Amino acid sequence: MSKFWSAFVNDLVPYVPGEQPKIANLVKLNTNENPYGPSPKAVAAMQAALNDDLRLYPDPNADVLKQAIADYYGVGKSHVFVGNGSDEVLAHVFHGLLKHDRPILFPDISYSFYPVYCGLYGVSFRQVMLNANYEIDLDDYAQPNGGIIFPNPNAPTGILTPLSAIESLLQRNTDSVVVVDEAYVDFGGETAITLVRKYPQLLVTQTLSKSRSLAGLRVGLAIGHPDLIEALERIKNSFNSYPLGRMAIVGAAAAFDDQEYFRQTCQAVIESREKLVGELVSLGFEVLPSAANFIFARHPEREGSALAALLRERAVIVRHFRSPRIEQFLRITIGAPEQNDALIRALKEVL
Ligand SMILES: *Cc1c(COP(=O)(O)O)cnc(C)c1O
Repeated sequence: MSKFWSAFVNDLVPYVPGEQPKIANLVKLNTNENPYGPSPKAVAAMQAALNDDLRLYPDPNADVLKQAIADYYGVGKSHVFVGNGSDEVLAHVFHGLLKHDRPILFPDISYSFYPVYCGLYGVSFRQVMLNANYEIDLDDYAQPNGGIIFPNPNAPTGILTPLSAIESLLQRNTDSVVVVDEAYVDFGGETAITLVRKYPQLLVTQTLSKSRSLAGLRVGLAIGHPDLIEALERIKNSFNSYPLGRMAIVGAAAAFDDQEYFRQTCQAVIESREKLVGELVSLGFEVLPSAANFIFARHPEREGSALAALLRERAVIVRHFRSPRIEQFLRITIGAPEQNDALIRALKEVL
């Protein structure tokens, strides 16, 4: 608190990102980063762009990137919006598409940035409880609303909502925007982008931070009807006309073009996930079914916070949330095989 703060700043409750400790040799399984590097072709494209052209502003419309994304998903360029990480894209979504008279709906256990954006942009919201199996039941969203947003797969549970359930929601809910946050969809989900032509109220967001291993570059995107995209462009051009730098535009476009590397690394993460789930189950953990690059697990006899602290003493960092209903759980990012082995070794010691 400072005397220079406005009442608005004083009342904000900011998001707390997973920590980025500056300690060497950590087994860092707390922020869902990809254990494999980005596409070598993306790195080469960025190296080639590291030249005197940096004196010039980037293309404010990031056309090269929008075209690469449009080609990848078989949509028109006017269906594509890009921003500085999907967190920025989501901020514009809350500001431009979800701020209406009625409260918006999202799950009670979900991405903890959603209520933060509601606070920042003055969006009222109602949280809808996950069912007893920690699943999103979209039938519970059949109520008047100013918009609906949920991650698919959900975070931090990792549980996938089937596309058929999303389509029936879209058939019922036609008067407000439905946002599907697909940050983790490439690790076993089916994208809702195939539905955007049919449902003008559907907006799908994605990020290059997880499946394309470019968290450090900060690139995210949204795909939807051109009217929704235009709303985001209006917000963006009232905020920052150049959210993506030259490196981000060429690197992200090259990452979308390199489908082979993308497929191989996603597959490797999925295989490691299935192996790790098996090992955790044999150690007595209950693991929720994950379609993401992380798993959400609890040990019936151990407190989540205590386990996280004991792992930390062994240089393994996982994420623990001090929220009702999930206090016992740990969210564990799928690492490289040797990192996952180190986690299992540490857990064997601790248990
Ligand atoms: C990681 C994540 C994002 C944001 O990713 P960016 O790095 O900002 O692109 C958005 N939604 C969910 C659910 C996430 O887990």
